[in-house]
Amino acid sequence: MYSKNTILLVDDEEVVKQKLKDVIEDAYDVLDASDGQEALEILAVHYDKVAVIVLDLIMPGMDGFQFMDEFYKHQEYDNIPVIVATSNNDWHSEQKCLEAGVWDFVMKPYNPVLLQFRIKNVIDKSRMIMAERDAVTGLYTKFKFYRTVRSILSENREETFAFVRFDIDRFKMINNFYGINEGDKVLKSVASELGRISTVLEKFIYGRLENDVFAVCMPFREENIELLVNALQINLRKVNKDYNIKVSCGVYVINDTTLDVSEMYDRAYLAAKSCKGKFVQSIAYYNENMIEDMRQEQFIINEVNRAIDEEQFEVYLQPKFNLVTDRSYGAEALVRWKHPEKGMISPGDFIPVYERNGIIGRLDQYMWRHACMLLRKWLDEGKNPNPISVNVSRVNIYNPQLVQIFKNLITEYRIPAELLNLELTESAFMEDQDLVMKTMSNLHQLGFKIMIDDFGSGYSSLNVLKDMEVDYLKVDMKFLQDQQFNGRGEKVLTSVIRMAKWLHLPSIVEGVETLEQVDFLKCIGCEYAQGYYYAKPMPVEEYEVFVAREEEMGARCTTDENVMIVNELWNTRSGLSRFFDMLETPIAVYEYRNEKLELLRTNTRYENDIVFDQNVSESEHNRRMYAERELLEEAFAKIMRGDFCGPMEYELTEDIWYRVTVKVIGKRADTIIMMVTFYDISEYR
Ligand code: C2E
Ligand code: CA
Ligand code: CA
Repeated sequence: MYSKNTILLVDDEEVVKQKLKDVIEDAYDVLDASDGQEALEILAVHYDKVAVIVLDLIMPGMDGFQFMDEFYKHQEYDNIPVIVATSNNDWHSEQKCLEAGVWDFVMKPYNPVLLQFRIKNVIDKSRMIMAERDAVTGLYTKFKFYRTVRSILSENREETFAFVRFDIDRFKMINNFYGINEGDKVLKSVASELGRISTVLEKFIYGRLENDVFAVCMPFREENIELLVNALQINLRKVNKDYNIKVSCGVYVINDTTLDVSEMYDRAYLAAKSCKGKFVQSIAYYNENMIEDMRQEQFIINEVNRAIDEEQFEVYLQPKFNLVTDRSYGAEALVRWKHPEKGMISPGDFIPVYERNGIIGRLDQYMWRHACMLLRKWLDEGKNPNPISVNVSRVNIYNPQLVQIFKNLITEYRIPAELLNLELTESAFMEDQDLVMKTMSNLHQLGFKIMIDDFGSGYSSLNVLKDMEVDYLKVDMKFLQDQQFNGRGEKVLTSVIRMAKWLHLPSIVEGVETLEQVDFLKCIGCEYAQGYYYAKPMPVEEYEVFVAREEEMGARCTTDENVMIVNELWNTRSGLSRFFDMLETPIAVYEYRNEKLELLRTNTRYENDIVFDQNVSESEHNRRMYAERELLEEAFAKIMRGDFCGPMEYELTEDIWYRVTVKVIGKRADTIIMMVTFYDISEYR
């Protein structure tokens, strides 16, 4: 099969050449040239026989470098390895040679035995690469396929061809679950289908490039490409009915034939990537934007180290709100990239890239450290900070060092673990549950609080969560952004939050943008919310101002049950509110602040019996209001002083007596909220 056994020696010194010839002539045929020009002339005639070129760099006439410039322009010489002869440690020219594509070096003066050894090595290696047929499928190898593509393109210059590259989705999984033999069966069936198609379509070349990657080059016609992919798909389903095989196929319509075949491949590959993992789409065509996207992606990857070193990534904080108190409780740290030239780059542009490349692991850790630094700063300033939550991406969840990393961080910055909450994305939970559970349990033991992020975006069920040591549920914003917010999203959200309550898991709903949504969440008993309605992610300084202002407005509110009652009462749609209205006893809720009394909420019975009695005149009505106020003001003043205030009796009007009790149901700094109940005691007087 390999008849090529000729060595081309290019050297200007006849004596040296002769000595070499003597040594290798037994094993190889030898052609020789005295300079680059002569070598090129020989190659033009004999290139298909030449197995290796041994090239001297320094020669009169065309020297070795000039020769290589010409030589590597010829596609048909691609598979001829070059060994360069150098004189003592000229690393500069070595580097130049390697860049040009040289395979190996030998030192001058030649050691004939060593040279023979090198030659053999290089030939073996090149034969392996040049093998024309793939052992498993019998199809063309990459090398042979590329060469055939090149020649078919040059033979058919008038025609437009398509370079089609496809692979089998989840092929690794088939290999892992069903074994290598089953994997080979799949590959062979692809090969035989391609063979069948080649009898129908003209100028149809195909090969297996590596693993599960195949390529086809054929005259471009959209319907034929569809035909090809459909045939493959149908045939693959017959191989094994247990798993649904899908191919991802990228097409480059070859409108620039000057490209290297490998560049055509790159373009088809870019296109193929865009339909990976999509259930309906199997074929994607290359377009210029893809190159732009790839450049952008490459830029983002290349820049990451510098960006981390130069601290271009900044922590933004988005407060979370307690829906019972309507006050912030902690914040989520979100990364922002301030690039010195490009300005602000959105996380949506770089996070997915880093996730695909695993780089996100480093960025995560950068953010954790900065969150710790921030907490340390606040503690040093004598503040009593609320927790910061940080995102933990999939690669880190499976990082065996994870627990240790967090432990080191809180030790280094002397931070109570409860102050650093960890947001673990839901989708990462489902892969290796045992491992994730163990990690979470270890983190818990250290005192960290764990949140499941983006709950509802994936497939996990609450059923799984009941076995996990989770502290909070962060519900994905898609439920709120649902087009039919008043339809399904709302129903699903209600049941998710109700179920979470059964598991004693407080919920945080993300992406809350409107008052209507806030009211709805309060109504279904959701505990926390995060979203633009309350606050957007903001720089640290802004967050500090925000927290300070909130504190100024009143001492931090504790989430005691009384406040909960009050807040439920505000919400006229809440269950408590409706119950309140149904009561047969008149009730009013007052706020007392700076010696001023304000009526906040009354129930229907109060309105009917005490205020809007139809039978009384306006002046009588005012008199009653005034009397009631006087009585209550006295009672409230007492309570503010800390005195006990028992039930009081008062006459509303002639012979209508009420016993009035006042109960404090909420307290914030200088404000108290009281519930006043009126019992009709007229018949007992
Ligand atoms: P996420 O963890 O689900 O974060 C919430 C995202 O929703 C943030 O987008 C936030 O700005 C946005 N958001 C908050 N409220 C609203 C709202 O009311 N309406 C809408 N439409 N959006 C809202 P951001 O900052 O662009 O981050 C996007 C995603 O990038 C994050 O989603 C998270 O998955 C990832 N990410 C951001 N920062 C980090 C980080 O430091 N580490 C890791 N691993 N991932 C991060
Ligand atoms: Ca998050
Ligand atoms: Ca989220």
